[in-house]
Amino acid sequence: MAATGIRLEGISRIFEARGKRTEALKDVSLSTEPGSFTALIGPSGCGKSTILRLCLGLDMPDAGTLTVDGLVPTEATKQGLTGVAFQDAALLPWRNVEANIALPLDVLGRKLSDYRPRIAELIRLVGLEGFEKSLPGELSGGMRQRVAIARALVTKPDVLFLDEPFGALDQILRRQMNIELQRIWMETRATTLLVTHGIDEAVFLADRVVVMASRPGRIAKIIEIDLPRPRHPALFNEEHFHALEREVSEALDGH
Ligand code: ADP
Ligand code: MG
Repeated sequence: MAATGIRLEGISRIFEARGKRTEALKDVSLSTEPGSFTALIGPSGCGKSTILRLCLGLDMPDAGTLTVDGLVPTEATKQGLTGVAFQDAALLPWRNVEANIALPLDVLGRKLSDYRPRIAELIRLVGLEGFEKSLPGELSGGMRQRVAIARALVTKPDVLFLDEPFGALDQILRRQMNIELQRIWMETRATTLLVTHGIDEAVFLADRVVVMASRPGRIAKIIEIDLPRPRHPALFNEEHFHALEREVSEALDGH
């Protein structure tokens, strides 16, 4: 299978709702390399989630072309080549951890028995051994997000989409989850597109930070992050790290 990353070319999306016209995206072009980690950052309403929805085949562009793994998004999704997790873990409260991780298999009509080892491997990967039979209501916020990430990875997707997955967590937990996510990504090497509000999170995790601007939603600047991996928490205090954060921050302010 040819893993070709994510490709958007000249994507525009206009919403017309009750007489109001919103240019959610205007002429957005972006390519990501297979196995790369891209962070998407920008003010609220600049079209970040719209990009993800288009990449997942949940919405259609008004102009431009878009492929995921060389396929139209609906096809990539149908083949289980994409995985997604949102800010709200959106777990089914009556299903235990294992059964929540298995959810995409139901949707895609795959046989659960074929995935038993995969689910066990994911539970280890996200550090939830011993909680296989727990219900979401018995887990902390950070643990619920781990389940959501494991669920996103259950089909071994080539491409992982994360929409502010740690947005509801406190700063200390967010840092822990950043380190966890780096480890998970280094093990899986899924092409990852992370939407985030956190400048530190974007710089810590990404190969490239794509800074967006709003009205119309567009790409303002792409910043390469040349930090070697694995990246260590001490990095958060280093001058070079702060310089990169400033560069992102200035691009957000339109400089
Ligand atoms: P972000 O995720 O960057 O905060 P979104 O992609 O959710 O932004 O939204 C971009 C813009 O498009 C916003 O102004 C939002 O109100 C608008 N928008 C998104 N989805 C719809 C929709 N289904 N109908 C009308 N407007 C929408
Ligand atoms: Mg959003």
